[in-house]
Amino acid sequence: MKKIALILSLLLYISSLSVFGQSVSDYQKKLNNVNQSINNINKAINENKKEQKSVEEQIRALEVEINEREREIAKINSELKETERQIRSTQKEINEIEKNIEENNEMLGRRLKVMYKVSDVGYLDVLFSSKDITELLSNLDMIKKIVNHDKELLEELRKSKEVVEAKKLRLENDQKKIVNLKNSIEIEKNRLLVSRGEQNRLKKQLESEQSKLLAQEDELLRYAKSLEKEIQKMQSKGDYAGGVLLWPAPGYTRITSPFGNRIHPIFNVPRMHTGIDIAAPMGATIVAANSGTVLQADWLGGYGKTVLIDHGGGIVTLYAHNSTLLVSQGQKVERGQAIARAGSTGNSTGPHLHFEVRKNGAYVDPMSWLR
Ligand SMILES: [Zn+2]
Repeated sequence: MKKIALILSLLLYISSLSVFGQSVSDYQKKLNNVNQSINNINKAINENKKEQKSVEEQIRALEVEINEREREIAKINSELKETERQIRSTQKEINEIEKNIEENNEMLGRRLKVMYKVSDVGYLDVLFSSKDITELLSNLDMIKKIVNHDKELLEELRKSKEVVEAKKLRLENDQKKIVNLKNSIEIEKNRLLVSRGEQNRLKKQLESEQSKLLAQEDELLRYAKSLEKEIQKMQSKGDYAGGVLLWPAPGYTRITSPFGNRIHPIFNVPRMHTGIDIAAPMGATIVAANSGTVLQADWLGGYGKTVLIDHGGGIVTLYAHNSTLLVSQGQKVERGQAIARAGSTGNSTGPHLHFEVRKNGAYVDPMSWLR
């Protein structure tokens, strides 16, 4: 028993390694999985591109804000300079007024001394030294008037000094406010710079992720190519059934998407369109384009319900997105035989037939085979 189990497992191992035991359908399914992975990677690449775009937009918006803050700071700096200039000029005014007050004080002191001297000397002395009483009185009166004037002048100077000092205080308050504003704008600017740094890092990360995804896609595309070659090798070696191909969707001739490079309608990335799309309504009859053998009649990932027919001579036709399949794998079909009903299965935006012609495994333009 042990021996048989060993042989069985060995056989299983060998069959998993070799081509024996693997049908075209098995390879086609593998290829289909690979193509599905390629689609997923394409989606991820597309998502990555969108993210990169949004990050770049954020970086641009941050730069606009940073520039705005820098302009504000420059404006505040010039305001600050102007305020500082005004503070210096009021200080100068204050100094001048103080000098004036000092001078006036000295003068007043001198005058008061004279006046007190006169008072000390007494009326009689003044009376005797004065030519007459009128002169004495007028002398005293004049001194009093001058002293009073000096006192008034001093009072005025003190008042104007107070005014200028109040002005200086206001300017110093303004200066404090401007400095505070400048500080808060600088904090905001630094916050923006940090955000920009984060976004730049994110951008670099997305770029490296994208290049990894592109490398993965390349690898999968190479793998898909090798699987296609295997499928091609396993196809019947007989001659081609002959003649031009029959239109696969009788009565429906409008082509909604030709063969060749296009932007994929679902993944929004440049993609080779490997066949033609024919606008066929739900349930429309799909026929074999030529006689041959059904290689596969099954769900094929993004292709949905699909029929592959081998016509010999390395020519294979493919009919995708059907709603119903009318044939099965290995079945012989005649040219014009109904093989499926049109639908919208797999990656499809609406009912249509996706029709492919493969020659020795390579996609060819079906139009050159249909006329
Ligand atoms: Zn298509």
